[in-house]
Amino acid sequence: MPRNILNLPSYAISRIEEDEHDYHIWAEASGHPSSCQHCGRREIVGFGRREQLIRDLPMRGKRVGIYVDTRRYRCRRCGKTFYEHPPDMDERRMMTSRLADWVGKQSIKRPFTHLSDEVGLAENTIKNVFRDYINELERTIRFEVPRWMGVDDIHIIKKPRCIISNIEHNTAVEVLSDRTKRTVMTYFQNLKGREKVSYVAMDMWAPYRESVQALMPQATIVVDKFHVVRMANEALESVRKAQRAEISPRKRRGLMHDRLVLLKRRHDLTDEEYLKLTGWAANYPLLGAAYDAKEAFYGIWDMKTRPAAERAYEIWKSGLTSDVREAFQPLVRAVDGWRPHIFAYFDHQVTNAYAESVNHLIRVMNGLGRGYSFEALRAKILFAEGSHKLKRPNLRRRQPGWLLNDMMMARSNRYAMDTSDADREINYGADISTLVRLIREGKL
Ligand SMILES: [Zn+2]
Repeated sequence: MPRNILNLPSYAISRIEEDEHDYHIWAEASGHPSSCQHCGRREIVGFGRREQLIRDLPMRGKRVGIYVDTRRYRCRRCGKTFYEHPPDMDERRMMTSRLADWVGKQSIKRPFTHLSDEVGLAENTIKNVFRDYINELERTIRFEVPRWMGVDDIHIIKKPRCIISNIEHNTAVEVLSDRTKRTVMTYFQNLKGREKVSYVAMDMWAPYRESVQALMPQATIVVDKFHVVRMANEALESVRKAQRAEISPRKRRGLMHDRLVLLKRRHDLTDEEYLKLTGWAANYPLLGAAYDAKEAFYGIWDMKTRPAAERAYEIWKSGLTSDVREAFQPLVRAVDGWRPHIFAYFDHQVTNAYAESVNHLIRVMNGLGRGYSFEALRAKILFAEGSHKLKRPNLRRRQPGWLLNDMMMARSNRYAMDTSDADREINYGADISTLVRLIREGKL
């Protein structure tokens, strides 16, 4: 009989049965307790047995159950009884510690129902192991507070949530269950080291701004160009839709399929697209005017300085003809309402790579939703194995012993502080491009 089939030396196996889906293994602990669990004295005697079913890691595609023959003891000194604790067992549940570890890691990658089938534990038990695993990670992992922080909307399971990221390192550091002022404020209040945040790039959502202004007054708020110019596209799109509704179905077809031509910048159009656009502008002057307004708005972001951009915006706004103004009104309201933060972009540019990668993440997350709770999706983003961007402690150059000793003696306390800081591993959070890749490859 393969006695080492479990590879758990602390158990002696007495019998193994195998059927279509399961291994049933009977075992008992190889060692015995030598003293009383209550008083610590050594005068203990056997006082019966019971069989406990403990789940273990699946093996060759089958579930594994270990039937452990557990002994009960009675203490002659204090008179109390106790059961021996099966070795290598999880403290809280009837499973081996290694199964609990494995389920914890797997629960980030796969739906709970799949794991439940695979290991033979109730779905609720899987959920509890997942929670414990995440709590342990939350307790032990500290993400570095971003100097450049991103605060963006991300739609997860039909609701806008808030994702906090480190722009300089292109990592995610938190996902909040919603984007209400209360939730965002609570997060900032509990964020140790929040005074280190110098810049916050955000979606135009008032609670984000109010929370940052209240709790991180030192930080400069910047609205990324991407969030603003996107609204110009939306304005143009609303004009296109309104036009389409008014014309005959035959003509409509053209305007339906060429949405992308309208969204393109003029200098990116091919000759053919340019002709198409000219034709539409002639047939539908309002659409042509809206396209021109969109292009002119983008032009503001080609300006080199903030004053030039602010002037360009004023000119653009006053030049809007009454027929297109209505469509662009939400954009005008947003720019006027967020003006200092929007034009702060010209003083403190957010990297394009960041907006792009957050968008990739948002897109791939949309395809993941089914079968997961918000907590599980948040854990995927924050705690996927191998996604963390770490800065390992500096490896100091090896010195001959005497030289290093002399240097240490010569330096003050400051040196000691520097080295302890250099010895600390820094965790910047979950690398967003790694996450996107893992999700695309179906590994998360
Ligand atoms: Zn005792």
